Amino acid sequence: MVQRHPPAHRRVGRQQRNPRHEQQYLSVAGAVPDQRLRPRPVRRGRPRPVDDQRRRCSSGSGGRQRCRGVLLNTGNLVIRSPDGTTLWQSFDHPADTFLPGMKIRIRYDTRAGERLVSWKGPADPSPGAFSLGGDPDTFLQVFVWNGTRPIWRSGPWTGYMVSTQTAQYLTNTSVIVYLAVVNNEEEIYITFSLSDGAGHARYVLTDSGDYQLQTWNRSSSAWILLGWTKAPGGECASYGYCGLNGYCDITELPSTCKCLDGFEPTSLEDLRSGRFSQGCRRKAALLCSDGFLALPGISSPDKFVLVKNRSRHECAAECTRNCSCVAYAYANLSTSRTKGDLTRCLVWTGELIDTVKVGVGDGSNTLYLRIAGLDEGKMRTKRSHALKTVLPAVLISGLLILAAISLAWFKFKGRVNYGAKHKKLTLDDMSASDELGEGNHAQDFEFLSVRFEDIVDATCNFSEACKIGQGGFGKVYKAMLGGREVAIKRLSKDSEQGTKEFKNEVILIAKLQHRNLVRLLGCSVEANEKILIYEYLANGSLDATLFDNSIKMLLDWPMRLNIIKGVARGLLYLHQDSRLTIIHRDLKAANVLLDAEMRPKIADFGMARIFNDSQESANTHRVVGTYGYMAPEYAMEGVLSIKSDVYSFGVLLLEVVTGIRRSSSGGIMGFPNLIVYAWNMWKEGKARDLADPYIMGTCSLDEVLLCSHMALLCVQENPDDRPLMSSVVFTLENGSTRLPTPNNPGHYGQTSTSDVEQIRDRTENSMNSLTLTTIEGR
Ligand code: ATP
Repeated sequence: MVQRHPPAHRRVGRQQRNPRHEQQYLSVAGAVPDQRLRPRPVRRGRPRPVDDQRRRCSSGSGGRQRCRGVLLNTGNLVIRSPDGTTLWQSFDHPADTFLPGMKIRIRYDTRAGERLVSWKGPADPSPGAFSLGGDPDTFLQVFVWNGTRPIWRSGPWTGYMVSTQTAQYLTNTSVIVYLAVVNNEEEIYITFSLSDGAGHARYVLTDSGDYQLQTWNRSSSAWILLGWTKAPGGECASYGYCGLNGYCDITELPSTCKCLDGFEPTSLEDLRSGRFSQGCRRKAALLCSDGFLALPGISSPDKFVLVKNRSRHECAAECTRNCSCVAYAYANLSTSRTKGDLTRCLVWTGELIDTVKVGVGDGSNTLYLRIAGLDEGKMRTKRSHALKTVLPAVLISGLLILAAISLAWFKFKGRVNYGAKHKKLTLDDMSASDELGEGNHAQDFEFLSVRFEDIVDATCNFSEACKIGQGGFGKVYKAMLGGREVAIKRLSKDSEQGTKEFKNEVILIAKLQHRNLVRLLGCSVEANEKILIYEYLANGSLDATLFDNSIKMLLDWPMRLNIIKGVARGLLYLHQDSRLTIIHRDLKAANVLLDAEMRPKIADFGMARIFNDSQESANTHRVVGTYGYMAPEYAMEGVLSIKSDVYSFGVLLLEVVTGIRRSSSGGIMGFPNLIVYAWNMWKEGKARDLADPYIMGTCSLDEVLLCSHMALLCVQENPDDRPLMSSVVFTLENGSTRLPTPNNPGHYGQTSTSDVEQIRDRTENSMNSLTLTTIEGR
């Protein structure tokens, strides 16, 4: 059913029988809905035969029992039998519109599934030429077709269950779309939901084949465009534009068609027109003994074959020994489609079609291409090629960062005539730190800074009256700069660690932007002074409210749930959605700050560590973090991964639900710490008693149970058992009845650290001293 008006209710995703969600009842006596109410037939799975529906609706004595048609506020028209069974629903029969909570699926057995089908013309709702759906051959990608010809392709699934797309419209309001890929025994489907507070939004496949994200604009009473599938490369990036063995290079402006290495344009005319309609041909025939050239920053071409359960090495071997294999690409997935298989080995044995050079980062891959004349067994990365790929990405992101910072800066300057100067902070010596992780080389990084004397003025010479907090590495002050309230963090002069953390934080935060991460507005580096300037968050840190009995009642359950969802989204962004994989390493209630509307933002990136694309874990001799929040494998063995943050998130989640600190010197209800307490309550079936008494009047016990369950999954001893943040976000957003049973939690005792001392917990520890005195194995 095509929605011409926005649904009146925003929450989506579950088929509920809550009458509050039911907008309109249509009484239908013993019949399927009127033809005018039926959506256009599109490809579907196994529809219930109409006769069957009719029989079920007309059953009962004397025809008195009636089926009912209910138009839910989600936009789903549901036909129910007298006993309440859903006989038919419009969400199973999409037309041109994809609404939150709808599914576009592909069934594994029949390869059938739903497709969106465009209208024929702007005012003609009969089925048009364009359709959108899952790829029935690979189950791994989504296509837009014009008839049977593909015109757009999403690229193969990365294994992420949830990805986010942020779109902004008119004012500063933005919509975050959570796109989820759900995979079960029978089918794989995509669905989506919207962030809390987002307006109404929908995807539409237009009559011209555009797949658009639109939002309802109340003032103009119309749907307006938020985003669309047209790739940055425009036409060049549309399906197969550069022909066989050609690729569209969207890292260049304007984007252009080129031939893959080892190929040349088939026609001179193509070369002149810039469109390689006839594609590219091999310069020399391939031999089985030819080796492979690594091409980073390339999105996988179409027409691949998925080889299951192969390691990176086995994937390479698979292609090497098959003489007709011309290319392969390998990825470690974040979740598996088939149980347990977290690998994605794609091989190509024919022509390569629909290849796009996207640069290193989102959606990119390394394509290993067999090249005539390259020695067998030698894998080469073409240096010039890699440089060409990496440099534009670095330059573009550098320019973007500079533009963003400049904008903030000019806002500053516009209001008060500050004597700021540009200062070049060369971070070459970052290489001395292991914090950037492999593959992230230090670069010269120009950063706009504020004069130290202006900061002295703004804080009345760092007076106690302006001080709002004290962290492990220095004091925090509130000040006005450029007419704006800011928080100024002054690192202690004598802290050697602080210097590293400072640089880390500058580089990291400048690159990151998310509504649930604290924004860095500027910095100052003069003489021995290192100062960071952040947006000011009026409600301070979460721990200050959550653990203070005199004010914790301010944090009712909806607020707490909102905070936890926001932190989960921020962490998901760090782990997966930013261009880098970032492990925060020090997530805790003190590092969650609350703005004037109690919206949460993750702070304090001083300890964060960047992983490169293929890195899953690291062994570090520098274990940093806060006792009680650190995952045991990290605290005791130095093994760091995104699952270490998931553990910390689990501890934080337990604290938010219970209102109890993770540890206290006297123990918690006779248990050594909060995790053991919560685990015991869970085992005894008393999980609902975990809820903080201060939220009893405002909480939904189902939500409390869900959060406790999720928290216990996050703190499981085995990191592999812990969920990814994508699943956590999805579950918190959509609820779930099918969470696995948690296994034993991991934790370690703590003998010498009291809550009062917790600020000092966060010291660097060599592995030896850490294991010996303060942390005990269970
Ligand atoms: P540590 O750095 O040792 O982990 P911490 O995270 O509490 O401890 P800081 O990040 O230095 O240390 O912050 C100290 C306190 O200053 C916070 O608890 C908070 O109350 C306040 N604060 C920090 N940043 C801001 C901000 N941007 N807006 C408002 N208050 C802030």
